[in-house]
Amino acid sequence: MDFIDLKTQQARIQEKIKSNIQKVLNHGSYILGPEVKDLEEKLAKYVGVKHAIACASGTDALLMALMAYDIKPGDAIFTTPFTFIATAEVIALLGATPIFVDIDPKTYNIDPAKLDLAIKALKNNDSSIYPLPNIEHRTLNFELTPKGIIPVDLFGLLADYEAIQAIADEHHLFVIEDAAQSFGAQYENKMSCSYGNIACTSFFPAKPLGCYGDGGMCFTNDNALADKMNSIKVHGKGIDKYENIRIGINGRLDTLQAAILLAKFDIFPEELVMRQTVARRYTSLLTSDNSLLTPCIPPGNVSAWAQYSLLTGNENNRTVLLQKLQDNQIPSAIYYPKSLHMQTAFAYLGYQPGDFPVSENCSTRIFSIPMHPYLNEKQQAFIADIISAGGQPMT
Ligand SMILES: *Cc1c(COP(=O)(O)O)cnc(C)c1O
Repeated sequence: MDFIDLKTQQARIQEKIKSNIQKVLNHGSYILGPEVKDLEEKLAKYVGVKHAIACASGTDALLMALMAYDIKPGDAIFTTPFTFIATAEVIALLGATPIFVDIDPKTYNIDPAKLDLAIKALKNNDSSIYPLPNIEHRTLNFELTPKGIIPVDLFGLLADYEAIQAIADEHHLFVIEDAAQSFGAQYENKMSCSYGNIACTSFFPAKPLGCYGDGGMCFTNDNALADKMNSIKVHGKGIDKYENIRIGINGRLDTLQAAILLAKFDIFPEELVMRQTVARRYTSLLTSDNSLLTPCIPPGNVSAWAQYSLLTGNENNRTVLLQKLQDNQIPSAIYYPKSLHMQTAFAYLGYQPGDFPVSENCSTRIFSIPMHPYLNEKQQAFIADIISAGGQPMT
């Protein structure tokens, strides 16, 4: 059994993948070939935004988005500590400061009420309102300027953009949607990657729409931001790549990866429906198990189901359960075992254990089980049986 089964999918579209790759070998435009533009147009239309900018990874997508806003030392960006490192890493790479905000215990996404508190705490330089980074230079009257918010659509579920956008508007902050896990998700007919000022997704193989290597994409309705990101991704090019009008990166998506994504995108909408069926089956099999919490999908949402994650009563129960899964050759994973404010890489921010109690608590109790469109009823029943046998009731 695979955690994510890419082989079954590949078998379905083998011929299309081969012919798409052969086309690239024939025309030889390995960099920014016609497949890249084709993919950008298709995905922009699917998502419902004006501009799509293909790039080399989800991390580069986030980096390019922040660079489009000229983020620099002294700027503060609010985000969640319960995410993959890339979300906060790009903030730090540009010398800006990540300000962490705890998550909602039901959805695992950034908690809008706490976001509001964190912004007020920073503006008043008062960490009694909400925990703030405790960096030495702050004591030297180094003022941080709040610039933007990066909500993450964790496990494929959209963050609460209604509430987040209202807070962003009130405080004149931009919003960058980290949609690395949520391509295909929607809330009341508005698709993932259409929220905020810029949205960023990833085509890492394990994401809902993945390629066979690294890839990513930025989406925006803003012409100026789109122009800027198109320039940044090719070394800050002006009219051509030998006129450089700003500092940029080498952030292009390979033509070969675009060709593979085009083949995969053909069946993506169907796979998304299959993911709903798989998730529904898990939930109906596991919902009566009072030792576990199944995922909460608030009304109006369709998740992209990048992960199916469960919460045990405590860390010990999780350890026992993960061992049992392993003994039965069922793969599992922990997303995420450590909140970002507790990572060595962010020790310089001076956050303390207890600053983000929900995130810290979830990281000791959460785990994910196999999730992909091709899981069948029999496999899911077997997984659910192993999980449910003898779990400790939650207290
Ligand atoms: C995967 C992921 C990224 C980074 O994407 P890459 O393509 O691996 O660079 C960023 N944010 C989140 C939430 C992710 O899950």
